[in-house]
Amino acid sequence: MRVVRTVSELRDALRPARREHSTIGFVPTMGALHAGHEALMEQARRECDVVVLSIFVNPTQFNDPTDLERYPRTEEADVAAAERAGVDLVFAPFAQEMYPRGATIEVRLEGPLVDTLEGAHRGSDHFHGVTTVVAKLFNIVQPDVAYFGQKDAQQVLVVTALVRELNFPVRIQAVQTVREPDGLAMSSRNVHVQGRNRERALALKAGLDSAQATYDGGERDADAVIAASVAAMASYEVDPEYLAIVDRVTLEPLRTVEPGALVVVAAPVGPVRLIDNATIH
Ligand code: AMP
Repeated sequence: MRVVRTVSELRDALRPARREHSTIGFVPTMGALHAGHEALMEQARRECDVVVLSIFVNPTQFNDPTDLERYPRTEEADVAAAERAGVDLVFAPFAQEMYPRGATIEVRLEGPLVDTLEGAHRGSDHFHGVTTVVAKLFNIVQPDVAYFGQKDAQQVLVVTALVRELNFPVRIQAVQTVREPDGLAMSSRNVHVQGRNRERALALKAGLDSAQATYDGGERDADAVIAASVAAMASYEVDPEYLAIVDRVTLEPLRTVEPGALVVVAAPVGPVRLIDNATIH
C-alpha cells in the first residue's frame, strides 16, 4: 500500500490500473477511521480490483470553525487501518493541494435535497462544500464505484444527484451504518462523547427504535410517531435539533408513515452534534 499526497502522484500510481481496465473503488473519508469506514473499505475490496482511500478534512464543508478545529486527526492509525482493510492507495492531500488558490470554485447542487434537514440546520453551504470536494475527488481519482455510508443518508442522496447532474461515470454504493454494540452509530466525533454524555448519546438510536415500535404498534400518523420518539429521547435528557419522517428519495416530510420511510434525527450531545437515521420496515 502506498500513501500519496499530490494529484500527480495519485494519477501516476493509478495509470497501470487504468491501462489494464481494472475497476477502481473509491472511499472518501475525513480520517479518524473507525469500523464504519472499515465496512466501506472492505466492501470496496470485495467488489473492485483497486481500492483508493482518501483522507482529507475538508475545510469547506464545516459550518462551525470549532468543529473543524477539534475534528480528530489520527493519520498514522488510519494508514494502518487502511493497510489491514486491503486498501491499495491512500490519497492524503494537504489543503494546499486541494485548494491551491483558496476556494475559487464551488460545485453547487440547488433544491430541497440540500436545503432541508442538515442543510437547514448546518446551512446549505455544508453540502456545497461536500459536492465541491467530492466533484474534485472524482475528477482526481476517476473511480468506477464510490462508497458512502448510509449513516449520512442525506449525503448519499446529494452525491447521487451530483453524479447524475454532472454525468460522472461513477456508481454510488451506499453501505449500511455500523454501530457500537449498544447501538450508537460509529462516528469520528464520538471520541468527544464521554462519561455521562456517552449514555445520553444512546438517545438517537432510542428515538429511531421508538419510531419503529410505535409504527409496529399500529400508529401511522407521522406527527404521533415523532412525538413518541421525541419523548423517548427526552428520557435520555436529549432534545433533538430535528426528528423527521421523510421520503427516502426526496426527503420530503411524510404525513403517513409507511414501510421504506426514512426517520432522521440530529441532536446535540455534550460538545458535539450527532446524527443518525433508520428506515421503517
Ligand atoms: P467521514 O470521515 O465522517 O466523512 O465519513 C466518511 C464516510 O464514512 C462517509 O461516507 C460516511 O457516511 C461513512 N461513515 C461514517 N460513519 C459510518 C458508520 N457508522 N457506518 C457506515 N459508514 C459510515
